[in-house]
Amino acid sequence: NPNRQDKDKEVNVQVLLRCRPLSDDEQRLNVQKVISCNEHKREVTVLQSLNNKQVDRVFTFDRVFGPKSQQKSIYDQAISPIVNEVLDGFNCTVFAYGQTGTGKTYTMEGGMRNKSGNLPAEAGVIPRAVRHIFETLEAQNADYSVKVTFLEIYNEEITDLLAPDDNPRTAEDRQRKSISLMEDGKGCVIVRGLEEEAVYNVNEIYTVLERGSAKRRTADTLLNKRSSRSHSVFSITVHIKEATVGDEELIKCGKINLVDLAGSENISRSGAREGRAREAGEINKSLLTLGRVINALVEHSTHIPYRDSKLTRLLRDSLGGKTKTCIIATISPTAQCMEETLSTLDYACRAK
Ligand code: ADP
Ligand code: MG
Repeated sequence: NPNRQDKDKEVNVQVLLRCRPLSDDEQRLNVQKVISCNEHKREVTVLQSLNNKQVDRVFTFDRVFGPKSQQKSIYDQAISPIVNEVLDGFNCTVFAYGQTGTGKTYTMEGGMRNKSGNLPAEAGVIPRAVRHIFETLEAQNADYSVKVTFLEIYNEEITDLLAPDDNPRTAEDRQRKSISLMEDGKGCVIVRGLEEEAVYNVNEIYTVLERGSAKRRTADTLLNKRSSRSHSVFSITVHIKEATVGDEELIKCGKINLVDLAGSENISRSGAREGRAREAGEINKSLLTLGRVINALVEHSTHIPYRDSKLTRLLRDSLGGKTKTCIIATISPTAQCMEETLSTLDYACRAK
């Protein structure tokens, strides 16, 4: 029974592909498009001609979202089921992976709040996940708490994006506030020194996001586009009281990590000459290791190299096993980006 076999081998890694629309500037300049998305067939075609011959390449994913796709439909179709797992007490992770400028931050954070206090249509995965969590728990009349953390990994150093403002002037200032990772012996990850913030409604999430993003921006001007080389991890932890037995409370705990990865151009270029990348610091170690960890999970390897980078150590209790993982690979439709697009598509396909 082939279905049975599939079930046994089931891997909880889902790979989605999203292609952004042309920007206004690109439209004005009549930039050439080389990507065609077929959402129904879940296929992305890269249109390529070599010596006047058409040599298109086709890639298949779990889901494909074309340039016209809305934030709401990505959330409803792909992310909402994952957040339901979190509400059932599981740990899950959503990654945005792709070249800088292809929509990772747009997909994860999206447009900021409008004056009415409602979520705008451009709201991304993070605010939608928070709203979903509050709405579900309120409707259940549950006794619960929601806590968030927001951190950044740059050069294998963790920085707390929610720590009280210390106005760092130099890279050294930031590193002094860095965070350490430990394991509790039961497979759970403990992040020491990280600010955990309780939130009580959806709107607060924007205050938190804005604070974290402002901190990332400051660093950008200090260190030449740091954000394209750093990973940001927004984590939401939910504790739900299930019952009281005698004087013991039964608490269900779930966590979702929403990860805006460093620009993938950081590995596709240096990946070919890994020696030099290593020499140049360890900018890409987390991105390279994440690829290896996901490959190992998909291939059911006995050794999963979690320990090889900060990002994978941090996410260890939310990757593999019973957890659900979703990778949203983002690409640009333009001819100019084609080389990077092909490496993003290759990387994302290997993760399936
Ligand atoms: P990244 O985080 O991958 O570097 P951004 O999220 O900053 O990329 O996106 C680059 C630009 O493209 C931003 O101005 C963003 O608003 C816009 N953009 C990205 N994806 C979309 C989309 N799906 N629809 C509309 N605008 C988008
Ligand atoms: Mg970004």
